[in-house]
Amino acid sequence: MTEQGAPAPAGPHREPAGAAAEAGPAEAASVAAFWRGLGLPGLVDIHTHFMPPNVLAKVWAFFERGRAAAGRAWPIAYRLPEEERVALLRAFGVRRFSALLYPHKPGMAAWLNSWAAGFAARTPDALHSATFFAEPGAGAYVTEAIGAGARLFKAHLQVGAYDPRDETLDGVWGTLAEAGVPVVVHCGSGPMPGPFTGPGPISGVLARHPRLTMIVAHLGAPEYGEFLDLAERYPGVHLDTTMAFTGFLEHLAPFPPALRPRLATAGGRILLGTDFPNIPYPYLHQLEALARLEFGAAWLRAVCHDNAVRLLGL
Ligand SMILES: [Zn+2]
Repeated sequence: MTEQGAPAPAGPHREPAGAAAEAGPAEAASVAAFWRGLGLPGLVDIHTHFMPPNVLAKVWAFFERGRAAAGRAWPIAYRLPEEERVALLRAFGVRRFSALLYPHKPGMAAWLNSWAAGFAARTPDALHSATFFAEPGAGAYVTEAIGAGARLFKAHLQVGAYDPRDETLDGVWGTLAEAGVPVVVHCGSGPMPGPFTGPGPISGVLARHPRLTMIVAHLGAPEYGEFLDLAERYPGVHLDTTMAFTGFLEHLAPFPPALRPRLATAGGRILLGTDFPNIPYPYLHQLEALARLEFGAAWLRAVCHDNAVRLLGL
Protein backbone atom coordinates (compact mmCIF):
# COMPACT_ATOMS: atom_id res chain seq x y z
CA MET A 1 0.00 0.00 0.00
CA THR A 2 1.43 3.33 -1.01
CA GLU A 3 1.23 6.49 1.05
CA GLN A 4 -1.64 7.95 -0.93
CA GLY A 5 -3.51 4.65 -0.81
CA ALA A 6 -3.20 4.15 2.92
CA PRO A 7 -6.19 5.21 4.95
CA ALA A 8 -5.58 7.96 7.46
CA PRO A 9 -8.69 7.91 9.58
CA ALA A 10 -9.03 9.58 12.90
CA GLY A 11 -11.04 7.87 15.55
CA PRO A 12 -11.01 5.20 18.17
CA HIS A 13 -11.37 2.21 15.85
CA ARG A 14 -8.45 2.86 13.57
CA GLU A 15 -6.74 -0.38 12.58
CA PRO A 16 -3.18 -0.77 13.78
CA ALA A 17 -0.72 0.88 11.40
CA GLY A 18 0.74 -2.53 10.57
CA ALA A 19 -2.55 -3.66 9.05
CA ALA A 20 -2.56 -1.17 6.20
CA ALA A 21 1.19 -1.28 5.80
CA GLU A 22 0.89 -4.99 5.12
CA ALA A 23 -0.92 -4.40 1.81
CA GLY A 24 0.96 -4.44 -1.49
CA PRO A 25 3.54 -7.07 -2.44
CA ALA A 26 3.86 -8.46 1.09
CA GLU A 27 0.14 -8.89 1.47
CA ALA A 28 -0.14 -10.39 -2.02
CA ALA A 29 2.47 -12.99 -1.10
CA SER A 30 0.57 -13.86 2.09
CA VAL A 31 -2.74 -14.19 0.22
CA ALA A 32 -1.09 -16.42 -2.40
CA ALA A 33 0.43 -18.56 0.33
CA PHE A 34 -3.07 -19.04 1.76
CA TRP A 35 -4.60 -20.52 -1.41
CA ARG A 36 -1.46 -22.41 -2.42
CA GLY A 37 -1.48 -24.03 1.00
CA LEU A 38 -4.96 -25.33 0.26
CA GLY A 39 -3.88 -26.70 -3.12
CA LEU A 40 -6.10 -24.24 -4.97
CA PRO A 41 -5.27 -22.49 -8.27
CA GLY A 42 -6.40 -19.17 -6.74
CA LEU A 43 -9.52 -17.62 -5.21
CA VAL A 44 -12.94 -16.67 -6.52
CA ASP A 45 -14.40 -13.65 -4.71
CA ILE A 46 -18.14 -13.34 -5.26
CA HIS A 47 -18.53 -10.03 -3.43
CA THR A 48 -16.29 -7.21 -4.58
CA HIS A 49 -17.39 -3.79 -5.75
CA PHE A 50 -16.56 -1.86 -8.88
CA MET A 51 -18.65 1.20 -9.73
CA PRO A 52 -18.45 4.38 -11.77
CA PRO A 53 -15.79 6.57 -10.08
CA ASN A 54 -18.22 9.30 -8.97
CA VAL A 55 -20.55 6.71 -7.39
CA LEU A 56 -17.69 4.94 -5.63
CA ALA A 57 -16.40 8.26 -4.29
CA LYS A 58 -19.82 8.86 -2.73
CA VAL A 59 -19.89 5.37 -1.24
CA TRP A 60 -16.44 5.89 0.27
CA ALA A 61 -17.44 9.25 1.71
CA PHE A 62 -20.54 7.64 3.22
CA PHE A 63 -18.48 4.92 4.89
CA GLU A 64 -15.76 7.27 6.08
CA ARG A 65 -18.25 9.67 7.62
CA GLY A 66 -19.34 6.74 9.76
CA ARG A 67 -22.83 6.62 8.30
CA ALA A 68 -22.67 2.97 7.26
CA ALA A 69 -22.25 1.48 10.70
CA ALA A 70 -23.90 3.64 13.32
CA GLY A 71 -21.08 6.14 13.65
CA ARG A 72 -18.32 3.59 13.71
CA ALA A 73 -15.29 4.69 11.70
CA TRP A 74 -14.96 2.65 8.50
CA PRO A 75 -11.70 3.69 6.81
CA ILE A 76 -11.42 2.30 3.28
CA ALA A 77 -8.26 0.18 3.14
CA TYR A 78 -8.05 0.11 -0.68
CA ARG A 79 -8.88 3.64 -1.73
CA LEU A 80 -7.04 3.34 -5.04
CA PRO A 81 -7.68 4.07 -8.72
CA GLU A 82 -9.66 1.37 -10.50
CA GLU A 83 -6.74 -0.12 -12.42
CA GLU A 84 -4.72 -0.45 -9.22
CA ARG A 85 -7.61 -2.20 -7.48
CA VAL A 86 -7.90 -4.67 -10.36
CA ALA A 87 -4.13 -5.19 -10.36
CA LEU A 88 -4.18 -5.86 -6.62
CA LEU A 89 -6.88 -8.54 -6.93
CA ARG A 90 -4.83 -10.18 -9.66
CA ALA A 91 -1.72 -9.99 -7.49
CA PHE A 92 -3.71 -11.67 -4.71
CA GLY A 93 -4.50 -14.52 -7.11
CA VAL A 94 -8.24 -13.78 -7.26
CA ARG A 95 -9.01 -15.56 -10.54
CA ARG A 96 -12.56 -14.24 -10.85
CA PHE A 97 -14.25 -11.46 -8.95
CA SER A 98 -17.59 -9.71 -9.13
CA ALA A 99 -18.25 -6.03 -9.79
CA LEU A 100 -21.29 -5.50 -7.62
CA LEU A 101 -23.07 -2.18 -7.91
CA TYR A 102 -26.48 -1.01 -6.75
CA PRO A 103 -28.75 2.02 -6.96
CA HIS A 104 -30.09 4.01 -4.02
CA LYS A 105 -32.90 5.58 -6.03
CA PRO A 106 -35.06 4.96 -9.10
CA GLY A 107 -33.82 5.75 -12.60
CA MET A 108 -30.23 4.75 -11.89
CA ALA A 109 -29.98 0.98 -12.36
CA ALA A 110 -30.00 0.89 -16.18
CA TRP A 111 -27.18 3.44 -16.28
CA LEU A 112 -25.18 1.42 -13.71
CA ASN A 113 -25.73 -1.69 -15.83
CA SER A 114 -24.36 -0.03 -18.93
CA TRP A 115 -21.26 1.05 -16.99
CA ALA A 116 -20.91 -2.52 -15.63
CA ALA A 117 -21.07 -3.96 -19.16
CA GLY A 118 -18.18 -1.70 -20.16
CA PHE A 119 -16.20 -2.66 -17.08
CA ALA A 120 -16.74 -6.37 -17.82
CA ALA A 121 -15.68 -5.85 -21.43
CA ARG A 122 -12.35 -4.29 -20.40
CA THR A 123 -11.81 -6.64 -17.42
CA PRO A 124 -12.09 -10.24 -18.61
CA ASP A 125 -11.59 -11.77 -15.15
CA ALA A 126 -14.46 -9.72 -13.67
CA LEU A 127 -17.85 -11.42 -13.56
CA HIS A 128 -20.25 -9.32 -15.60
CA SER A 129 -22.55 -7.96 -12.87
CA ALA A 130 -25.80 -5.99 -12.99
CA THR A 131 -28.47 -4.63 -10.67
CA PHE A 132 -32.06 -3.38 -10.45
CA PHE A 133 -34.42 -1.23 -8.41
CA ALA A 134 -38.14 -1.63 -7.66
CA GLU A 135 -39.42 0.51 -10.52
CA PRO A 136 -41.39 0.18 -13.73
CA GLY A 137 -39.14 -1.09 -16.50
CA ALA A 138 -36.97 -3.21 -14.18
CA GLY A 139 -38.05 -6.40 -15.95
CA ALA A 140 -37.01 -5.02 -19.33
CA TYR A 141 -33.54 -3.80 -18.35
CA VAL A 142 -32.83 -6.98 -16.36
CA THR A 143 -33.69 -9.10 -19.41
CA GLU A 144 -31.52 -6.81 -21.51
CA ALA A 145 -28.59 -7.12 -19.08
CA ILE A 146 -28.81 -10.93 -19.13
CA GLY A 147 -28.88 -10.80 -22.92
CA ALA A 148 -25.75 -8.63 -22.82
CA GLY A 149 -23.96 -11.29 -20.74
CA ALA A 150 -24.62 -10.39 -17.10
CA ARG A 151 -24.11 -13.50 -14.99
CA LEU A 152 -24.49 -12.11 -11.48
CA PHE A 153 -26.89 -9.52 -10.03
CA LYS A 154 -26.85 -7.48 -6.86
CA ALA A 155 -29.85 -6.27 -4.89
CA HIS A 156 -29.22 -4.06 -1.88
CA LEU A 157 -32.35 -3.87 0.25
CA GLN A 158 -30.85 -1.63 2.92
CA VAL A 159 -29.46 1.01 0.57
CA GLY A 160 -32.36 0.75 -1.90
CA ALA A 161 -34.96 0.64 0.88
CA TYR A 162 -37.48 -1.05 -1.42
CA ASP A 163 -39.69 -4.04 -0.74
CA PRO A 164 -38.32 -7.07 -2.64
CA ARG A 165 -41.94 -8.28 -2.95
CA ASP A 166 -42.86 -5.13 -4.90
CA GLU A 167 -44.96 -6.02 -7.94
CA THR A 168 -42.49 -4.32 -10.30
CA LEU A 169 -39.94 -6.97 -9.24
CA ASP A 170 -42.02 -10.11 -9.58
CA GLY A 171 -40.98 -10.54 -13.19
CA VAL A 172 -37.36 -9.80 -12.30
CA TRP A 173 -37.11 -12.58 -9.72
CA GLY A 174 -38.92 -14.92 -12.11
CA THR A 175 -36.52 -14.11 -14.95
CA LEU A 176 -33.47 -14.63 -12.73
CA ALA A 177 -34.86 -17.93 -11.42
CA GLU A 178 -35.62 -19.22 -14.91
CA ALA A 179 -32.27 -18.13 -16.30
CA GLY A 180 -30.43 -19.61 -13.31
CA VAL A 181 -28.57 -16.32 -12.88
CA PRO A 182 -27.52 -15.82 -9.23
CA VAL A 183 -28.36 -12.66 -7.35
CA VAL A 184 -26.37 -11.43 -4.35
CA VAL A 185 -28.90 -9.90 -1.98
CA HIS A 186 -28.00 -7.71 0.95
CA CYS A 187 -31.06 -8.63 3.00
CA GLY A 188 -29.68 -8.95 6.52
CA SER A 189 -30.21 -6.08 8.93
CA GLY A 190 -26.49 -5.45 9.45
CA PRO A 191 -24.65 -3.21 9.77
CA MET A 192 -27.79 -1.04 9.74
CA PRO A 193 -31.39 -2.21 9.32
CA GLY A 194 -33.69 -0.90 6.60
CA PRO A 195 -37.46 -1.01 6.30
CA PHE A 196 -37.31 -4.26 4.28
CA THR A 197 -34.20 -5.99 5.63
CA GLY A 198 -34.38 -9.11 7.77
CA PRO A 199 -35.54 -12.58 6.75
CA GLY A 200 -39.25 -11.70 6.37
CA PRO A 201 -39.49 -9.76 3.09
CA ILE A 202 -37.00 -11.89 1.14
CA SER A 203 -38.68 -15.07 2.41
CA GLY A 204 -41.78 -13.87 0.59
CA VAL A 205 -39.76 -13.74 -2.64
CA LEU A 206 -38.43 -17.26 -2.10
CA ALA A 207 -41.88 -18.61 -1.35
CA ARG A 208 -42.97 -17.32 -4.77
CA HIS A 209 -39.73 -18.20 -6.61
CA PRO A 210 -38.39 -21.26 -4.75
CA ARG A 211 -35.83 -22.09 -7.44
CA LEU A 212 -34.17 -18.68 -7.34
CA THR A 213 -30.39 -18.82 -7.00
CA MET A 214 -29.74 -16.31 -4.26
CA ILE A 215 -26.55 -15.47 -2.42
CA VAL A 216 -27.28 -13.85 0.92
CA ALA A 217 -24.57 -11.27 1.57
CA HIS A 218 -22.61 -11.15 4.84
CA LEU A 219 -23.94 -14.60 5.89
CA GLY A 220 -27.16 -12.70 6.59
CA ALA A 221 -25.67 -10.75 9.51
CA PRO A 222 -26.98 -10.31 12.11
CA GLU A 223 -29.84 -12.77 11.40
CA TYR A 224 -27.39 -15.61 10.80
CA GLY A 225 -29.66 -18.38 12.04
CA GLU A 226 -32.73 -17.31 10.06
CA PHE A 227 -30.75 -17.13 6.82
CA LEU A 228 -29.14 -20.53 7.49
CA ASP A 229 -32.73 -21.77 7.87
CA LEU A 230 -33.49 -20.46 4.37
CA ALA A 231 -30.39 -22.14 2.93
CA GLU A 232 -31.46 -25.42 4.50
CA ARG A 233 -34.97 -25.03 3.12
CA TYR A 234 -34.25 -23.81 -0.44
CA PRO A 235 -31.63 -25.53 -2.60
CA GLY A 236 -30.79 -22.30 -4.45
CA VAL A 237 -30.01 -20.24 -1.36
CA HIS A 238 -26.33 -19.66 -0.71
CA LEU A 239 -24.52 -17.28 1.66
CA ASP A 240 -21.38 -15.23 1.14
CA THR A 241 -18.76 -14.73 3.82
CA THR A 242 -18.37 -11.00 3.28
CA MET A 243 -16.94 -9.47 6.48
CA ALA A 244 -18.10 -12.45 8.54
CA PHE A 245 -15.78 -13.40 11.41
CA THR A 246 -13.57 -10.34 10.89
CA GLY A 247 -12.86 -8.39 14.03
CA PHE A 248 -14.88 -5.53 12.58
CA LEU A 249 -18.13 -7.46 12.05
CA GLU A 250 -17.72 -9.64 15.12
CA HIS A 251 -17.77 -6.41 17.10
CA LEU A 252 -21.01 -5.25 15.42
CA ALA A 253 -22.80 -8.57 14.93
CA PRO A 254 -21.01 -11.57 16.47
CA PHE A 255 -21.70 -14.95 14.87
CA PRO A 256 -23.30 -17.17 17.54
CA PRO A 257 -20.92 -20.04 18.36
CA ALA A 258 -23.92 -22.39 18.62
CA LEU A 259 -24.52 -21.97 14.86
CA ARG A 260 -21.02 -23.03 13.87
CA PRO A 261 -21.85 -26.73 13.29
CA ARG A 262 -24.61 -25.71 10.87
CA LEU A 263 -22.22 -23.43 9.01
CA ALA A 264 -19.71 -26.25 8.74
CA THR A 265 -22.40 -28.56 7.35
CA ALA A 266 -23.58 -25.91 4.88
CA GLY A 267 -20.08 -25.70 3.35
CA GLY A 268 -21.38 -26.45 -0.15
CA ARG A 269 -23.52 -23.30 -0.05
CA ILE A 270 -21.00 -20.82 1.32
CA LEU A 271 -19.06 -18.58 -1.05
CA LEU A 272 -16.06 -16.39 -0.38
CA GLY A 273 -16.95 -12.72 -0.45
CA THR A 274 -14.92 -9.86 0.96
CA ASP A 275 -16.38 -6.42 0.11
CA PHE A 276 -13.04 -5.40 -1.44
CA PRO A 277 -12.18 -2.54 -1.73
CA ASN A 278 -14.63 -1.09 0.81
CA ILE A 279 -13.13 -2.75 3.86
CA PRO A 280 -11.51 -1.26 6.94
CA TYR A 281 -8.83 -3.99 7.23
CA PRO A 282 -6.48 -5.93 4.92
CA TYR A 283 -7.92 -8.50 2.49
CA LEU A 284 -5.88 -11.22 4.18
CA HIS A 285 -7.79 -10.68 7.42
CA GLN A 286 -10.98 -12.13 5.84
CA LEU A 287 -9.15 -15.29 4.78
CA GLU A 288 -7.49 -15.74 8.14
CA ALA A 289 -10.82 -15.22 9.90
CA LEU A 290 -12.31 -18.10 7.88
CA ALA A 291 -9.31 -20.34 8.48
CA ARG A 292 -9.60 -19.70 12.22
CA LEU A 293 -13.01 -21.41 12.20
CA GLU A 294 -11.05 -24.68 11.88
CA PHE A 295 -13.64 -26.29 9.60
CA GLY A 296 -10.79 -27.88 7.68
CA ALA A 297 -9.10 -27.56 4.30
CA ALA A 298 -11.93 -29.19 2.34
CA TRP A 299 -14.40 -26.58 3.65
CA LEU A 300 -12.01 -23.75 2.78
CA ARG A 301 -11.37 -25.12 -0.72
CA ALA A 302 -15.10 -25.31 -1.40
CA VAL A 303 -15.81 -21.85 0.01
CA CYS A 304 -12.84 -19.99 -1.43
CA HIS A 305 -13.00 -21.45 -4.93
CA ASP A 306 -14.87 -24.62 -5.87
CA ASN A 307 -18.45 -23.62 -4.94
CA ALA A 308 -18.31 -20.47 -7.04
CA VAL A 309 -16.75 -22.33 -9.97
CA ARG A 310 -19.63 -24.80 -9.86
CA LEU A 311 -22.39 -22.23 -9.28
CA LEU A 312 -21.25 -19.86 -12.02
CA GLY A 313 -19.92 -22.49 -14.43
CA LEU A 314 -16.45 -20.90 -14.46
ZN1 LIG B 1 -20.82 -5.20 -0.34
